Amino acid sequence: MTVEDIKNLETAALREIRGARSPEDLERLRVSYLGRKGALTGILRSLGKLDPEMRRNVGQEANRAKEALEAALDQALSALKTAARLAETTTVDVTLPGRRLPRGRLHPLNRIMAEVCDIFLHLGFEAVEGPEVELDWYNFEALNLPPDHPARDMQDTFYFNDKVLLRTHTSPMQIRTMEVRQPPVRIIAPGKVYRRDSDITHSPMFHQVEGLLVDKGVTFADLKGVLTAFVHQMFGPEVGVRFRPSYFPFTEPSAEVDIECVMCGGHGCRVCQATGWLEVLGSGMVHPAVFEAVGYDPEIYTGFAFGLGIERIAMLKYGVDDIRLFFDNDLRFLRQF
Ligand SMILES: [Zn+2]
Repeated sequence: MTVEDIKNLETAALREIRGARSPEDLERLRVSYLGRKGALTGILRSLGKLDPEMRRNVGQEANRAKEALEAALDQALSALKTAARLAETTTVDVTLPGRRLPRGRLHPLNRIMAEVCDIFLHLGFEAVEGPEVELDWYNFEALNLPPDHPARDMQDTFYFNDKVLLRTHTSPMQIRTMEVRQPPVRIIAPGKVYRRDSDITHSPMFHQVEGLLVDKGVTFADLKGVLTAFVHQMFGPEVGVRFRPSYFPFTEPSAEVDIECVMCGGHGCRVCQATGWLEVLGSGMVHPAVFEAVGYDPEIYTGFAFGLGIERIAMLKYGVDDIRLFFDNDLRFLRQF
């Protein structure tokens, strides 16, 4: 008889105790290990036959194993009793209807993105997608923003190095598309864009839809027609629209598109800063320098471009006043849509 034998016996006994399914099982195990003729009791009785050195070691181990088994038996018994009590008090009503599985739904930003794209697809535009890690050439230079251009400050940029950055708008897709296609071009470019900006109305990552239409004889009237149609589809046919002169390096002339404030109906409130109008889009006629960068002849072709922020549209449409709510993944917020 050795210390090792006792350890093996203990392991086997503990495994059996764990497998016991009734107090009777446990009692049987108690008798077979710890009873008068039990295995461990036998070992303790035979200690006298060992030499004194062995007797001390084996004796200590056997007593420790005995305590461990007693504790395990007590614990298993009380667990079985608890389970039995629960089973008595819990009855199953098989006529109750099943639990309904929670159903997922589209994130509000995905909904608005799909809605915006859908409107333009029905107007004859085609959606194109491109890289979020972009070259300076596509993001700035080809869009008439050379390295020293002051308007680069309008867009705080995440740079990887001098030439590679996270795109600050989806406009690079205008260039990438015109490089490989000849007019007529009618595209929208939906996607994520990145700027170093974060507060209740700005997020370092947000979503844009950019649009571009190029052909012979495209005029500002076409721009107005397409964007007015979009705004009326998006915000309702009765909402007022105005085009306000603005500046973008890649369009000339440029215009911001405002809609009548959806919060106050144009009377003036906190959201529209008492003006009665809300800015929803940037737009303009494509700058000749942009056409030159992609090899289109600006004497032959004209076109217009526009861009809008999905978060801004979603905030206006749903009356959300903090952009960060869209990214917090708080189900209490998301379930409202
Ligand atoms: Zn207002």
